[in-house]
Amino acid sequence: MDFSLSDEQRMLVDTVRRFIATELAPLEDRIEQQGFLDPELARAVHAKSKALGLYALNFPEAAGGGGLSAVDRMLCEEQFGHTTDILIRRAFGNVYEPLLECKGEQVARWLQPAVAGARTCAIAITEPGAGSDAQGITTRATKTADGWRLNGSKHFISDGEWSDFFLVSAKTGDKEISMFMVDKGLAGFTVGKDQKMMGVRGTPHLELFFDDVPLEPLALLGEQGQGFKLAMGALNVVRLAQVGARAVGKASHVLELMVEQANQRKQFGQKIGDFQLIQQMLADSAIEINAARFMVLNAAWLLDQGADAREQIAMVKVHAAETLGRVVDRAVQLFGGMGFCKELPIERYYRDARIYRIFDGTSEIHRTVIARSVMKKGAALFELHR
Ligand SMILES: Cc1cc2nc3c(=O)[nH]c(=O)nc-3n(C[C@H](O)[C@H](O)[C@H](O)COP(=O)(O)OP(=O)(O)OC[C@H]3O[C@@H](n4cnc5c(N)ncnc54)[C@H](O)[C@@H]3O)c2cc1C
Repeated sequence: MDFSLSDEQRMLVDTVRRFIATELAPLEDRIEQQGFLDPELARAVHAKSKALGLYALNFPEAAGGGGLSAVDRMLCEEQFGHTTDILIRRAFGNVYEPLLECKGEQVARWLQPAVAGARTCAIAITEPGAGSDAQGITTRATKTADGWRLNGSKHFISDGEWSDFFLVSAKTGDKEISMFMVDKGLAGFTVGKDQKMMGVRGTPHLELFFDDVPLEPLALLGEQGQGFKLAMGALNVVRLAQVGARAVGKASHVLELMVEQANQRKQFGQKIGDFQLIQQMLADSAIEINAARFMVLNAAWLLDQGADAREQIAMVKVHAAETLGRVVDRAVQLFGGMGFCKELPIERYYRDARIYRIFDGTSEIHRTVIARSVMKKGAALFELHR
């Protein structure tokens, strides 16, 4: 087992890290204050990142992307976790893997513009009546002489305002779900309100309404009845990247601030880092973050070997998200009143961290998946030598 990084990997991580520190971090407070990212700033951030070759790193070179392996991508995604959601989206893209199912004319229409950053895409699966139970949706696409008619609604759709098209799940039979690429602006397609959230300020989360929206046959992603399954499979790597690796990055960022504070803040004539109860917070955070980091990299390595890493990714999702939650909670405590005060970003990290346990499958759903696998395949399921 070789855990060392190559020179190329180090260079890549350094480039991303520098870009975030110099170009993105200075914008964070402003976004937090005003609640949105100015379109002009978004364009500038996008242009600079693209010039450095940092946009759509996750997509194959043949599709116009960065062609990174899963391991290399996770190294970058961990760095992305050091900044805020909306800046990650504009600088590095939310080019979702299900788009790799595009065939023929779909490639030029949806895949290539998404990878080039000319068109933005969002994933629309959740409905007011169907969240964890993603198969319980009622949005329906009915076949017509010239394509499909889409009816229904979605909610909580991240980045909806910035998106030009959506990957929408819809029933195409009693027990059959398909995915469609739905362009904004189609007749009968309206966007509702921005649903205000506890954290991740700056990222809009929209309601979508479909009222007899006409879709061309070309809008169907993958085979009828298969697109959803393919999309859910492809979303595994998204979960590993956007929740697992980013949670590790965010928790590391917060731990750096905790260490700084532990060394600087003095009470009772000594730095608070000298108190053992404070040291325990630092030690527990470092232990848990590093465990999460290696779980992320191990799952990524499995993906690079072509293995099915669903069970490992479910474990990462729970452990990384919950580690982040514990670390930000300790950070508020370590900073004392200043941890609760809006003059520092600690309270923002605390609020932003909470969603990690909920989206991309709640901790309860992933624990259920893990428990089922362990009960079926035995406790040795995750041992490397078996
Ligand atoms: C900020 C934000 C961004 C989001 N972005 C998107 C997006 O871009 N696209 C998209 O499609 N969706 C998005 N979502 C939706 C998100 O994926 C769902 O909120 C999530 O899947 C949970 O669904 P729910 O909110 O309906 O909760 P529910 O499914 O109603 O769950 C409520 C509670 O019941 C528990 N529960 C449910 N089923 C079980 C079970 N079988 N066993 C044990 N416990 C169970 C859950 O764990 C949870 O604690 C976003 C949500 C938020 C808040």
